Amino acid sequence: MRIGAHVDPAEPLAEAAARGAEAVQFFLTDPQGYKTPQPREDAAALRAAEVDIYIHAPYIINVASPNNRIRIPSRKLLVAHARAAAEIGAKGLIVHGGHVGAGADLSAGFLNWKKAFEYAESEGGLPIPVLIENTAGGDNACARRFDDLARLWDAVGSFGAGFCLDTCHAFAGGEDLTGIVDRVKAITGRIDLIHANDSKGGFDSGQDRHDNLGSGKIDPELVVAAIRASGAPAIVETPGGVAGQAADIALLRERAGT
Ligand SMILES: [Zn+2]
Repeated sequence: MRIGAHVDPAEPLAEAAARGAEAVQFFLTDPQGYKTPQPREDAAALRAAEVDIYIHAPYIINVASPNNRIRIPSRKLLVAHARAAAEIGAKGLIVHGGHVGAGADLSAGFLNWKKAFEYAESEGGLPIPVLIENTAGGDNACARRFDDLARLWDAVGSFGAGFCLDTCHAFAGGEDLTGIVDRVKAITGRIDLIHANDSKGGFDSGQDRHDNLGSGKIDPELVVAAIRASGAPAIVETPGGVAGQAADIALLRERAGT
């Protein structure tokens, strides 16, 4: 069971070492921008590293959007990030499930997700798995409520989509963490990565506000149980820099028995 952290992209391997992390996740570009990722000077070192590497796609990507001026650049950027992530040996590209906006029909969002995978195939395919992450907010989100997640998976499951379960997002999104791994796997058949975060926001608050394990509203044992039941690697996306994240990693390693 590999446990790591979301870190600054400048020197991810040094950040991993500072935290005692066996995995790291980082952004390749400004998460709020539409920039195409550029080749990294440390690509060879990252490819050769013992540490597992995950890349988080920019938050601005929303392939579900009914607005073509968002949807088209989003899916292009998704493919560009998957290629750049593959260049550095990443195991997966994490992308949020997206949303269709107030008043729009969610079924359009699921169809747009399908079109995004079809587009990727027409461009030569995705070189690494895209892991769709559940989100905390938005009543019109594709991957907040698990009944919606099931409809999303009907659209994308056949393309080999992966899944990233964020414990903060699930809790704040209104999904009970007890037994959550079985409920997700009944829908997706897989969990590729756990984002092991506590939540500052309450249950079903819709707030995407991460906290250190044991400091927020979630019983840390439920996070540990999700990691254990999934058998997937875990990444903490928690505050407090090196000290805060190292403590979260140590807690998980101790309680998950790794
Ligand atoms: Zn997350």
